[in-house]
Amino acid sequence: RFITFEGSEGAGKSTQIRRLETRLLSLGEPVLTIREPGGTPLGERLRRLLKESAPEPALSPESELFLFLASRAQLVRETIRPALARDCWVLSDRFSDSTLAYQGGGRGFSPVLLRSLNELACAGLSPGMTFILDLPLSEAAARLARRKRESAQGDRIEQEPPEFFERVRSSYHDLARLEPDRIRLIDGGRPEDEVAEGIWEAVSHVFGL
Ligand code: C5P
Repeated sequence: RFITFEGSEGAGKSTQIRRLETRLLSLGEPVLTIREPGGTPLGERLRRLLKESAPEPALSPESELFLFLASRAQLVRETIRPALARDCWVLSDRFSDSTLAYQGGGRGFSPVLLRSLNELACAGLSPGMTFILDLPLSEAAARLARRKRESAQGDRIEQEPPEFFERVRSSYHDLARLEPDRIRLIDGGRPEDEVAEGIWEAVSHVFGL
């Protein structure tokens, strides 16, 4: 009952999470929706640190990695495990695969090291199902630019070069190939309703709803 959503910003994760949440709630299912980094008081503080557009001094890749992991370790223990123990669905906007894609593919940390750190942070917990919403870089950038004009928000990670995001995207593709049973790669460029329907079909099939 633990489902995670991954992919680049602008691919429609939050919209699709909301739609799945609404659908489960309409069946009378208890649902907890969370986001990473964040989801706990400590996690939200770490999120603000991680999203600062110009931290002074600059955040080293190692510090960045440990801050994401600290947020996750707290989230698993304080929020996710207790919710699953109450038989609640947990929908998370990002989780351990983000570390493999961004810190692995993007920053170049070894996947073996990251898997072992994830194991420690997650206390062995792995999502039952993961949707990667995939979008070509140009499309994601266009959607983000639109969103930024509306909210005037800046984000440290957006200052990375396009190659960084290409490596992140290709890591996500590799992960989907590696774990086809858990991970579904979804074309985030399709109409919102179609994407939501595809996600619902997969969830209801796998979890027998
Ligand atoms: O899409 P969302 O708002 O959740 O993204 C949070 C930010 O943190 C994004 O800019 C994403 O690129 C970045 N991130 C990261 N490493 C992670 C998770 C997210 O660099 N492990």
